[in-house]
Amino acid sequence: MKDRTMDETAPIPFFRFVPTDAECDAVTAVMRSGWLTTGREALALEAEFSEFIGDSAIQSVAVNSCTAGLHLVLEALGIGPGDEVIVPTMTFTATAEIVTYCGATPVFADMDPDTLCVSPQAVRKAITPRTRAIIIVHFAGLAADIDAFRAIADEQGIALVEDAAHALPTGYRGGLVGSHGTTATVFSFYANKTITTGEGGMITTRDPAIAARCRVMRTHGIDRDAFGRFSGKSRQWEYDVVAGGFKYNLTDMAAALGRLQLARAMELWQARSDIAAFYREALAGLPLVLPPEAPADGRHSWHIYPIQLSDPAAREGLMTAFDEARIGYSVHYKPLHLMTFWRDTYRLNAQDFPAANSYFDGCITLPLYPTMTLEQAERVASTVRRQLEGRAA
Ligand SMILES: *Cc1c(COP(=O)(O)O)cnc(C)c1O
Repeated sequence: MKDRTMDETAPIPFFRFVPTDAECDAVTAVMRSGWLTTGREALALEAEFSEFIGDSAIQSVAVNSCTAGLHLVLEALGIGPGDEVIVPTMTFTATAEIVTYCGATPVFADMDPDTLCVSPQAVRKAITPRTRAIIIVHFAGLAADIDAFRAIADEQGIALVEDAAHALPTGYRGGLVGSHGTTATVFSFYANKTITTGEGGMITTRDPAIAARCRVMRTHGIDRDAFGRFSGKSRQWEYDVVAGGFKYNLTDMAAALGRLQLARAMELWQARSDIAAFYREALAGLPLVLPPEAPADGRHSWHIYPIQLSDPAAREGLMTAFDEARIGYSVHYKPLHLMTFWRDTYRLNAQDFPAANSYFDGCITLPLYPTMTLEQAERVASTVRRQLEGRAA
């Protein structure tokens, strides 16, 4: 019989990865095959990823992180010193960091409080003659209004890049994020993302020149990757270095895990979606704002479940209650304009980001992962209820 006492007090982590036996076996099989780095598995993952996204015009390029993929895309666009790239302030630091890798300047834009994504109006206001690209983030797993940003990008003749680290399998206007013909979309397979390879990522683009440049630059600017060299018949020793590249390729061990994760991406999504639906009901009527839902022709990936407390002063007490109940939580995100490096380097003023400031003050992210049980979700929800009931909205 199940020990209920144990169940009811066991810690609930913020996130937990649980592999299947098949996933463990697939990684081990790659190790035993003797070919550990980028090879057959990575090639197969690229093909299967394109198939999953469902756009026959795209190419997928596997990389060892979303950060690396975003950097490669900006590099392929020729973005460099003197150029500006608009990024959300409400994002993980990687979105802005890759702009500095290119020697270009990140320009931060405020969020839209209704979508939690970057605001199209704020992006428009941030455009200057030096702007070369806009990077949008599909925050929490809800698609930003891609068409609105595309209109701005097209009008300005600049690139639109999607940081889709939260956005698999996010849907927008009937198609998956990655299939909307933006300049490029970059996904993350980091440990706590919706599918994982430990560390890893995928670029998708319809532009063959961008895909080709990313392929060369992910392996040192070498014109053939190691798999092409060592599995070829003749002159295996010979390769040329055609550019000063990077070391951003995905290992076959990671790719083997990624293939099986991708195969159950919809099953993992369903489990997340069930927890999100439970939270929505269980937290209704409390003085807080639930994360925005996807419209009928879209799909929320439910990468994370961020709530906003109507009274930010209640957050500290809720965090203490979670700590005492041994429930994991997080904050997504302390905005970049409040981070020392970004604030000081680019002389950012907090007053320029009122929506992000007010969201940040009251936001807290609840635990959400595919193997979470409804009983665990109820423990989370009842902790929130106990803290907030009786408070004014
Ligand atoms: C996780 C994350 C990244 C970075 O992904 P890596 O694969 O770890 O490089 C970038 N942007 C956002 C919004 C993220 O959440």
